[in-house]
Amino acid sequence: MSKRDYYEILGVDKNASEDELKRAYRKLAKKYHPDLNPDDEEAEQKFKEANEAYEVLRDADKRAKYDRFGHEGVNGQGGFGGFGQNFGGGGFGDIFDDIFDMFGGGFSGGGRRKSGPKKGADLKYRVHIEFEEAAFGVEKEIKVKRTEDCSTCNGSGAKPGTNKSTCDKCSGTGEVKYAQQTPFGQFVRVGTCDKCNGTGEIIEEPCAKCHGTGKEQKVKKIKVKIPAGVDTGSVIPLRGEGEPGEKGGPRGDLYIYIEVKPHEIFDRDGNNIICEFSISFAQAALGAEVQVPTLEGKVKYDIPAGTQSGTVFRLKNKGITNIRGYGKGDQYVKINVVVPEKLNDKQKELLREFAKESGEESHEHKKGFFGKVKDALGG
Ligand SMILES: [Zn+2]
Ligand SMILES: [Zn+2]
Repeated sequence: MSKRDYYEILGVDKNASEDELKRAYRKLAKKYHPDLNPDDEEAEQKFKEANEAYEVLRDADKRAKYDRFGHEGVNGQGGFGGFGQNFGGGGFGDIFDDIFDMFGGGFSGGGRRKSGPKKGADLKYRVHIEFEEAAFGVEKEIKVKRTEDCSTCNGSGAKPGTNKSTCDKCSGTGEVKYAQQTPFGQFVRVGTCDKCNGTGEIIEEPCAKCHGTGKEQKVKKIKVKIPAGVDTGSVIPLRGEGEPGEKGGPRGDLYIYIEVKPHEIFDRDGNNIICEFSISFAQAALGAEVQVPTLEGKVKYDIPAGTQSGTVFRLKNKGITNIRGYGKGDQYVKINVVVPEKLNDKQKELLREFAKESGEESHEHKKGFFGKVKDALGG
C-alpha cells in the first residue's frame, strides 16, 4: 500500500507553519478520534494516518528529512512500522489522549484506558436448528473455539518447574514513567512497562506449549438453552463466555445467532404457522372429517360441506409460543381442492350423471385434432 503524502493528509501546503500544522492536525484528530467514531474502521484509519503525518511534520528534523527523501527518509526512525499494531497500547495514540484530556477530558472513554483491567472480546456463533426446535425450545451443545489458559503451565506462561522473577525495570508494578513531548510541552506520563508487558514479572524459561503467553486455543463445549419461539435472526447472549479479559478483566460475551431450517410442510409468519391441505372435490362438496397435521401431531377437523378451494381456516393456539413466554400463535390451513386427473369408466359415468342432475350439458372433448397429433408424436 503506497502511503499518502503527509501534507495532503493534513490538508496543508508544504510551507505550512507549525501553528497551521497543529490546527489542521487537531481538527482531523477531533473529527476522527476513535472514541467519537466507535466501530468506524475508516475513521480509525484516518485518525492513525493524521497522527503519523503530524508526528513527523511537527518535528523540524523529521520534517526536513521527509521533505527531502519522502516516506523513505523518516521510516525506521520513528518506528512507524508497528504503529498500527501498538496503537492504543502505549504507542503514539497516548500522546493524543493526553491532548484530549487537556481539552477537557471526556474523549477518552473507559474502554481505552491502558493500564486497567479490560474485558475480553465478544464471540459469535451461528447455530442451525430444526423448525420444531424453534417452536418448542431445545438445549444444544455447541463447540466454540476460544482462548483458554494453557493446560501445560496453567496460564502462568512459565515452563513447569521454573520460576518467574520480578521485573527489574518496573520493580513489579508493570508501569513505568515516560517523559513525552507534546505540542503543549513536556509531560510525564505513566505507561505499561515494555519489558514485562505490564505483568510485573519476567518469565525465566517460557512454557514450550504456549511460548510464554499462558494462553492456548481450545475447543470448548458449551450448553445453550434455546427458548421456544426463537426464529432466524434471534440472538442469544451468553455473558462471560467470550474471549478472556486482560489484567483481571472479565471474559467477553458469546452471541449465539439462530438460524431455523425450513420445514417440509409448514411456513412461519411471526408466531403463526401456515400450511396447505388438500381435499378431494367430493370432500369439499359433501363435507368431511379430516386429520390435519400440526406441530403437536394430527388433529381432527370438520370440513364443512361446500368448502371452496382457497378457503383458510384457523386452528387456535396451534402456532408457536411467544418467545417471551406469553401466548401462542395460531395455525392457518389453506384448503386446496384437488380435481382428479384420472377417472375410471364408472367414475366418469357417475360424473356425467351428476352433471346431468345439475342441469349441465356435457361438452366432453373427444379426441380431436391435437390429441391425434400428440399420439403421432408419441406424447
Ligand atoms: Zn503454557
Ligand atoms: Zn516491568
